[in-house]
Amino acid sequence: MSNLQDIPVVLSQRTGTDLPVLRERGQREVFCGLTGIVWLHRKLQDAFFLVVGSRTCAHLVQSAAGVMIFAEPRFGTAILTDRDLAGIADANDELDRVCISLLERRPEIKALFLVGSCPSEVIKLDLARAAERLNERLLPQVRVLSYSGSGIETTFTQGEDNALKAFVPIMPQTDARQLLVVGCLPDVVEDQFRRQFEQLGIGPVNFFPGRRAQDVPSIGPNTQLLLAQPFNGETVRALTARGATVLAAPYPFGVEGTTAWLRAAARAWQTPDAQFDAVTAPLIKRATAALERYRTKLAGKRLFMLPDSQLEIPLARFLNREMGMALVEVGTPYLDRQMVSEELALLPPDVVLSEGQHLERQLDRVRAARPDLTVCGLGLANPLEAEGLATKWSIELVFSPIHGYDQAADLAELFVRPLARRERLAV
Ligand code: SF4
Repeated sequence: MSNLQDIPVVLSQRTGTDLPVLRERGQREVFCGLTGIVWLHRKLQDAFFLVVGSRTCAHLVQSAAGVMIFAEPRFGTAILTDRDLAGIADANDELDRVCISLLERRPEIKALFLVGSCPSEVIKLDLARAAERLNERLLPQVRVLSYSGSGIETTFTQGEDNALKAFVPIMPQTDARQLLVVGCLPDVVEDQFRRQFEQLGIGPVNFFPGRRAQDVPSIGPNTQLLLAQPFNGETVRALTARGATVLAAPYPFGVEGTTAWLRAAARAWQTPDAQFDAVTAPLIKRATAALERYRTKLAGKRLFMLPDSQLEIPLARFLNREMGMALVEVGTPYLDRQMVSEELALLPPDVVLSEGQHLERQLDRVRAARPDLTVCGLGLANPLEAEGLATKWSIELVFSPIHGYDQAADLAELFVRPLARRERLAV
């Protein structure tokens, strides 16, 4: 039996077009949630992320952060030693001592995240209790929060989901009406959206997370959520449990996604259609024109996406509908139907969706399909390039500003670049 026939095909329960999903379990080639620290610490300018883990964890965060380790970093690792692991030292006392001395040295830090890892979870070090204990000593000057970024529990962007969820219990209650944009966005993108909401008469608007961990947004029954990232499902469920409602929309990638996303908020705030069109038309025109030259490069090309960040489904929708790419397979580490229902409805009915990973089988499918472009992690990119396949490193999609009208062409360019490079090298 071939590998392709081996895979159980489960029909989804989705209403509308039923898309078959390959569910696979096996060897995986993905990051753990600690990687989220790289963009979260850039966003939250008053926060420090202390991983409680091993040297492996320290190496991972340092290599993912690259040159940033040479700036005064706001992340680090409290390395569990043999004495902690063997129970000779009281790991809780050690942790308290490390945190206090860190905060004495860095008085500008107003929020400290204790980030759980595989080793801290395996030895059952209770970081939630440690955070409570430290808060008794440190509040209101410093707030200590905890979440897990371990590879056992989280894949890549799920680290952000866990970090944001840690805020939900401490969010003040409000009955005031507000729009809350959920998901970490680069400051430049946040500023653009803020301006656009203002022009559309939508407000007050808060972004979660904001630029300072100390400024915790309020939440309540009149809060409407607009989701900026597809991977924050647990946070969104925690926010809705506090009374908030979600505005159904695709994600703001490309012209179509951004327009539909803004429109969802505009409808909720009853922005007149004429005003919506007046604000968005010039932005749409400019972004569409900027996309055009990339479209000629991508149209008709066959795309294979390996699971990585949960951004795969919205990005596949953008590349298919706006850039004319054909989708061979779209893999996601975790298919959260609540979070991507609007996106699934926009995918072509013949797309192969896969959830989870069995690396060898998936690579067999890549080799059999020989797509024009394969989106994958750094661990696979060079080996696949050596086999003659063009690849796009998926991590860049998380680290680069890609949301909204003004970034639509930059997003498309990320996919054009490897194809253009191959063309140049072939000459
Ligand atoms: S948390 Fe786990 S998967 Fe991540 S670097 Fe540490 S040991 Fe590795």
